[in-house]
Amino acid sequence: MTTEAASASELSRYPALNAYLRHVEGPGAELPPIPPRPTRRPLIGRPAAPLRISPRALRAGIVAGGTGVSALWAVQAEPSARLDALFATGAHLTGLLAGYGVLVMLFLMARIPAVEHGVGADRLARRHATGGRHVLELCAAHLVLAVCGYASHAGTDLVSTVVDLLGYPAIAAASAGTGLLVAVGVSSARAVRRRVTHETWRTVHLLTYLGAALGFVHQLAGPDVAIDVVTRWLWAFLHATVAVLLVWYRLVVPIHQALRHSLRVVAVHGEGPGVFSVVMQGIGLDGLRAEPGQFFRWRFLRGGLWHTSLPFSLSAPVCGDELRITVKALGRHTRRVRRLAPGTRVLATGPFGALTAHRRTRRKVLLLAGGVGITPLRALFETLPGAPGDLTLLYRASTAEQLVLNGELEAIARSRQAALHYLLGPSDASFDPLAPQALRNLVPELAEHDVYVCGPPGMTAAALTALERAGVPEDHIHTECFTF
Ligand SMILES: Cc1cc2nc3c(=O)[nH]c(=O)nc-3n(C[C@H](O)[C@H](O)[C@H](O)COP(=O)(O)OP(=O)(O)OC[C@H]3O[C@@H](n4cnc5c(N)ncnc54)[C@H](O)[C@@H]3O)c2cc1C
Repeated sequence: MTTEAASASELSRYPALNAYLRHVEGPGAELPPIPPRPTRRPLIGRPAAPLRISPRALRAGIVAGGTGVSALWAVQAEPSARLDALFATGAHLTGLLAGYGVLVMLFLMARIPAVEHGVGADRLARRHATGGRHVLELCAAHLVLAVCGYASHAGTDLVSTVVDLLGYPAIAAASAGTGLLVAVGVSSARAVRRRVTHETWRTVHLLTYLGAALGFVHQLAGPDVAIDVVTRWLWAFLHATVAVLLVWYRLVVPIHQALRHSLRVVAVHGEGPGVFSVVMQGIGLDGLRAEPGQFFRWRFLRGGLWHTSLPFSLSAPVCGDELRITVKALGRHTRRVRRLAPGTRVLATGPFGALTAHRRTRRKVLLLAGGVGITPLRALFETLPGAPGDLTLLYRASTAEQLVLNGELEAIARSRQAALHYLLGPSDASFDPLAPQALRNLVPELAEHDVYVCGPPGMTAAALTALERAGVPEDHIHTECFTF
């Protein structure tokens, strides 16, 4: 395929950008071909871009499901002014919504490519965290209302009611399930999360599956779902669907990818102080359909690393049988990654993330990187289509010594006639290169740009505020956080 043909197929993957160009510049407006890569051959002729579910569509789907569940409750509710009936009807609604909420939480974390690529892993994790809190609130409300309803119906005190209710196996199962969900919630609280390792937190999180299964037993036996056979089958079908998605995308697909691609480390080389690149080779990597800007979860099969899968972005586009990541040695795992020997087997799951060219809606693009956040933006800098002057990369670091991949960035900037500026200086210096006016001075027509931001949390937050103050509309700003 020629470069022009590759470019045409690339452009068909940016519906929002094409619509914008047609609107602003009339029919036939086209970006020039992607220039040849400076160091390596670009991967061309990839399969079509995967399906993506937008954040708005996901939210609408979740709300529609919640409305359906509430409607199910409404058609079953029998209006009554009696206190016990009011408690019972409240317990039914909160119980149904809690059960649905658990399903939604599991769905969000099932790593379904259409959801991951459309919404982004960090946004999904944030929604999962917020949603998880609401699910626990619903569980608590359900528990209190059910106990009060039962007590006022039977005329017993709350303690003996609880003892009576725990005599029912399905209720005992649900109570145990709720206990497990509470344990998961506690382990995710910021104060606890800071004190436990990522692996401990993940292991506790696996209890969610058991908690959900125990809750499901209770729901099938309970008055809302058991009431008619259609509801029972529908509820079971929803649970089975989510279970299949989880097993498929979290177990079957990773095993299949591991067997198919046989990834191995071929080289590890330094890029700067504490930063190094890991180059890996494998078979049939075009089948991964990885896009510049995306990340994988990497499991390196050597002592001290095999038990955890670490997220790292691709720091260069996939090229033939090669993948590359660039890692900052911050903690105990990343320090071990630096010592990987050539030949080490690697299991990569992915690609994940939505910080891709698909988000683009404008001809002009600003890439704004901080620290090791340069990795996904380096890959985008090379591959985003653009005429001379369309692309700008701003790279924030404390000192020139901390810049990494700068030789490559300069070569790309030269060959693509793109702008590249290093914003150096300590973060507490009196001159802030990320202040709105400073950004406007560096990037003419800033508000007309799409802006991709990736960096440490503090720098990212400061950049987002400055960009909004500088007049960049919120929906032109695309970001990915390196923490879940
Ligand atoms: C989407 C994404 C892309 C990333 N891309 C890059 C990149 O290209 N280059 C780079 O240098 N860093 C990247 N990171 C950050 C990198 O994953 C962490 O710095 C690294 O996993 C921490 O390991 P450690 O041994 O240094 O730290 P540890 O001391 O083990 O842990 C420090 C903190 O890192 C986080 N962490 C540890 N293990 C994991 C895990 N398995 N999954 C998620 N978070 C974890 C936890 O918040 C933990 O508290 C990325 C992170 C994310 C979420």
